Amino acid sequence: MSDPRELLRTTFGFPDFRGVQRDVIDRVLAGERTLAVMPTGAGKSLTYQLPAVMLEGTCLVVSPLIALMHDQLRAAEAVGIRAATLTSADDNRDETIDRFRRGDLDLLYVAPERASGEGFRNLLRQAPLSMFAIDEAHCVSEWGHDFRPDYRLLRPLLDAFPELPRLALTATADAHTRADILDQLGIPHDGLIIAGFDRPNIRYAITNTASKGSAIASLVKRTPGAGIVYATSRDRTEKLAATLAGTGRPTRFYHAGMAPDQRRRAQAEFVRSEDMVMVATIAFGMGIDKPDVRFVAHAGLPKSIEGYYQESGRAGRDGDPAVAHLFWAPGDFTRAREWLAEMPENRRASERARLDALAGLVETAQCRRAVLLRYFGESPPERCGNCDNCLHAPGVQDATQIARKLLSAVYRTGQ
Ligand code: ADP
Ligand code: MG
Repeated sequence: MSDPRELLRTTFGFPDFRGVQRDVIDRVLAGERTLAVMPTGAGKSLTYQLPAVMLEGTCLVVSPLIALMHDQLRAAEAVGIRAATLTSADDNRDETIDRFRRGDLDLLYVAPERASGEGFRNLLRQAPLSMFAIDEAHCVSEWGHDFRPDYRLLRPLLDAFPELPRLALTATADAHTRADILDQLGIPHDGLIIAGFDRPNIRYAITNTASKGSAIASLVKRTPGAGIVYATSRDRTEKLAATLAGTGRPTRFYHAGMAPDQRRRAQAEFVRSEDMVMVATIAFGMGIDKPDVRFVAHAGLPKSIEGYYQESGRAGRDGDPAVAHLFWAPGDFTRAREWLAEMPENRRASERARLDALAGLVETAQCRRAVLLRYFGESPPERCGNCDNCLHAPGVQDATQIARKLLSAVYRTGQ
């Protein structure tokens, strides 16, 4: 099979590529090194899965979380791609290594700490490799919001196979992090492909309130459909869930302190439900495929703009109208700055920049969407017409009304 489009239809069952997918795939097939920055849900996986099927040999995929790898594995197997994971949670590791050596795999998922080990590099020399895919590549950067030191160890591995295409993927990278990823992974700066970040169906709103609980309860009451509410600690998650249950909506909570089967059950119930409210820490959401989430609320500050974009981006993935509403109190920033002061020196500058950017978004009287998109390097229009500041700015409405009156006066005199 030599045509990517044909393969897209026959193997993946999609009529067309979306956004920049084809550009990324063409670069990979041409043997180039690439960093693709594409928002969550844009279809990053396909940009390595499809070349992996087309190219002779196995694509090694580096991924930071076992749960994420297993999700990807299920999705790949569902469309008949030969894939496997090699993690501590797999008891068929010998069989997988065997298949890898035989060239019987299109995709092999591993964690960075395994990939960078000496033994593993020897294994790679004995197996037919086609390319490298580095998922969640922002983990390589200290400027990224999710630094994983093990990602730093990948470079020697990649450089041991300089002729193979390498594709780094991330949903969330500001200009600084992006440049860092390129340098860390040895990708030329002209190998950067950025997809559009705008989610026009999401209405953004940010409210300063001393009583987040009741503000979110009233959001829940006026917004039908399933929703996620992010809280900043396990404890607050449970308390807020109790408050929101008072609205009469089915409510669950989710955090990393719960037993795995409890978490699985809560997640499964939420995915099936059409009106459930899930109150969760940011442990909830990665790899969850629920397109009809109608609102995402934040009870307190997210960690960063990247985090906010990613979490709020779980709303409205079906393209229908959805709401992202962040509730904060001035004390939240005070606490964040105290926490900053306790950070090790070398991380403080990047964390401060992140917090300042967040403050800029939260405190702006300008279009929220414009501030968000500019942060990701885009040049959006001044006003989106679908955020709190565009919709409710009194000055703007007054000005529009005045302009309308003036215009009608002009037309009348003109007639
Ligand atoms: P990301 O990793 O960028 O968040 P995924 O790779 O998980 O996104 O893809 C998100 C969803 O989009 C998946 O359900 C996937 O099957 C779907 N998808 C990917 N490419 C296409 C396409 N060209 N047409 C339609 N759906 C697609
Ligand atoms: Mg992904």
